[in-house]
Amino acid sequence: MSDPIRRPVTYGDGAVEALPQLVADLERRRVLLVTGRRSFEASGAQRVLPALEAAAQVRRFSDFSPNTDVDDLALGLVEVARFDPDLIVAIGGGSALDLAKLLCAFRGTTDPDELRSGIRAGHRIDRRDTALILVPTTSGSGAEATHFAVVYIGDEKFSVGSPALLPDRVVLDPQLTVTGSAYQRATSGIDAVAQAVESLWATGATDRSRRFARHALRLLLPHLERFVEQPTDEPARAMALGSHLAGRAIDISRTTAAHALSYGITKGYGVSHGHAVALTLGPFIEAHAAAAAGDLQPGVDAALHARVMERVTALLGATSGTDARDRFVAMIERLGLVSRLSDVGVVTADQRAALVDGVNVERLGNNPVAFDSAQLLSLVERAA
Ligand SMILES: [Zn+2]
Repeated sequence: MSDPIRRPVTYGDGAVEALPQLVADLERRRVLLVTGRRSFEASGAQRVLPALEAAAQVRRFSDFSPNTDVDDLALGLVEVARFDPDLIVAIGGGSALDLAKLLCAFRGTTDPDELRSGIRAGHRIDRRDTALILVPTTSGSGAEATHFAVVYIGDEKFSVGSPALLPDRVVLDPQLTVTGSAYQRATSGIDAVAQAVESLWATGATDRSRRFARHALRLLLPHLERFVEQPTDEPARAMALGSHLAGRAIDISRTTAAHALSYGITKGYGVSHGHAVALTLGPFIEAHAAAAAGDLQPGVDAALHARVMERVTALLGATSGTDARDRFVAMIERLGLVSRLSDVGVVTADQRAALVDGVNVERLGNNPVAFDSAQLLSLVERAA
């Protein structure tokens, strides 16, 4: 198999130690280091700090919560204005990486109202003057591989996208990903699986994105359970590479309905992102496998969709769409995750209807099966 990883990715156990050299190569002098509050120390990435401080002036920013909020972004932008970095390095989970991408995108905007209206208006970001290096400590959000970032204004989710959000360098060090909790490894890992599955069937998929997604699943599915149980070297390497490839896949194809529904579950019920996605992915696998040509979006090739669903079913070791759903649900339970919406507090018909109302059905155009609100509600009922 050819190596899908090309520059600018530095990959391997201990790769984080290359960071000071990367900073020197980019000839940067002022580094804003965006890190999680605990993961920087816990992951072991902290050991590069002395060498980094020898290579450049470093200021650390970790004053933010998971699921990047516009108020945290505004605080970070004030820090950027004060410190005036020529490089932003993020070492952390998906939220830290997304925040760093957003700091680059909105650099120069410190007025919170202007920031909010810029995000709401979907202002095009054409260029980035600050260099950007992303170092994930989870496997994985794929955030280091995508040209978009999620930011919330209150409970409302926005996706900011621009080629300028792709980093100059990525450091993929599997050893940084093994110290999170089993729950964290499970939710991040299942997010990567969901991204790859959704990418395979997305209407925005291309031959290239499908290659990334298939390769991702071949790495992720055989290693995820071991990675959660006991993250030894081999599963950690497979998960780091697999989740990066899943990120490369959705960078091209974007995600679909299970992701669209997940944001309301995360914000409304405090469920971590990957877990929220996994709660409806099983029923989506079944519904997508059962879809007839007339159920598909205009322009979706029914034969291609059928082949994609055969592939998804086979990768899960299943013989039918229903079997694939059951196997996926059994897998998330073996990872220690509850598998039903009712288990996380989505109990009443009103709550389920509100979740569906929170999704803009017109924005589900990337989903291969055309769901109207009633069909989406019926799917959510199956996940209840
Ligand atoms: Zn995701």
